[in-house]
Amino acid sequence: MALAQFLFRGPYFLKSLTATSLGRMLKTPICSWNNYLRKVSVHGGKSISTKIVLGIETSCDDTGAAVVDETGSILGEALHSQTDVHLKTGGIIPPVAQQLHQENIARIVQHAVSASGVSMEDISAVATTVMPGLALSLGIGLKYSLELVKKHRKPFIPIHHMEAHALTVRLTNLVTFPFLVLLLSGGHCILAVAQGVSDFLLLGQTKDIAPGDLLDKVARSLSLHNHPECSGMTGGRAIETLAQQGNILRYKFTIPMQRYRDCTFSFAGLRSEITRKISKEEKEEGLQEGQHLSCIPDLAAASLYTMTVHIAERTHRAILFCKEKGIIPPGKETLVVSGGVASNQYVRRSLQLLADATNFTLVCPPPRLCTDNGVMIAWNGIEKLSAGLDIFYNVEHFRYEPKAPLGTDISEQVKEASIKVPALNLAV
Ligand code: AMP
Ligand code: ZN
Repeated sequence: MALAQFLFRGPYFLKSLTATSLGRMLKTPICSWNNYLRKVSVHGGKSISTKIVLGIETSCDDTGAAVVDETGSILGEALHSQTDVHLKTGGIIPPVAQQLHQENIARIVQHAVSASGVSMEDISAVATTVMPGLALSLGIGLKYSLELVKKHRKPFIPIHHMEAHALTVRLTNLVTFPFLVLLLSGGHCILAVAQGVSDFLLLGQTKDIAPGDLLDKVARSLSLHNHPECSGMTGGRAIETLAQQGNILRYKFTIPMQRYRDCTFSFAGLRSEITRKISKEEKEEGLQEGQHLSCIPDLAAASLYTMTVHIAERTHRAILFCKEKGIIPPGKETLVVSGGVASNQYVRRSLQLLADATNFTLVCPPPRLCTDNGVMIAWNGIEKLSAGLDIFYNVEHFRYEPKAPLGTDISEQVKEASIKVPALNLAV
């Protein structure tokens, strides 16, 4: 994709390692990389000099791999989703996820590499998610990757999963730093300013569960995994599908955290309120085993609406904070939204209203790149390779980190600013 070519001009040279948490993980960085980093590959008899990264993702329940070059072309990709298995068990059971990653990782990586038409010889580096995520899942990807880089003598680039979500948009759109980013996924809810490839300011995050988790749990309470219109869908997708037929105003749930003038999110109280309402409706309808409530579309719509108003309100405050503090220069105000929940069209439409009202440009990666995948990891590897960040050859004693904050936490400053957010009608 030509847009990405703008991002990578000039020759590559290795900068000194930064003092990021990733950098601190390795004891012995090695500095003679140039032979590895400048690769010459031959396509159709024409020699081209390019960086190519193999990305590997196993932080949660998707085994993903992709080969991406510095122009942003996705040369090959493969993904194994565990959704079907976890829908049956009612949620992700870490040892089950680990076992499925173990069974699929070699096949998925080989598929991505062979689909790319390049050999391991042509690949400049291997990039792998090492933080944050489920320990057992991260461990499989890291072990496999370290064996691969040792065998093929390739540099290793450790990837922060949330940084990768945040920067995926730069593969598909011309988005330059700094920009505001909202990450909505099954495990995270984060508002941050992306200032550079590995340079983030954290404005706020969830203090309990994430929006994807909320929707998955509501879907579970409504038994949507058995619903004829939602076969094989994630909870969030199922709620989105049924909410389209519902009335968002029939049920009124409490919008979380409205008294707190910060960018912290909370979805646990909303989840309890919705599941209490579902139990009450089930009793009133006298529901039998295997039956579904008649009011599912209205409950789905009201749940999605309340969650979205909460997200939009916090994002509105983040926008006003960035304006007030001059964090994002006027004229290039961009809001990037990514993560699995960002593929929800209602959430997108609502955030578009917010962006229009505040003169921000809303940019979202295509839905298939919003959920977990190998492409975003490979692309983050390309970004780091081009910036000379976190590139390692000696990978002995490398560790994964299940918990890893994103960037420098300035959420206290947001709270101190105590910005009042004007009302915005999102009943779209
Ligand atoms: P991630 O953690 O980024 O891979 O995203 C997975 C989460 O996104 C799960 O909780 C899904 O339920 C949720 N999700 C996927 N598609 C949608 C959708 N269309 N609307 C809302 N949530 C979704
Ligand atoms: Zn994710």
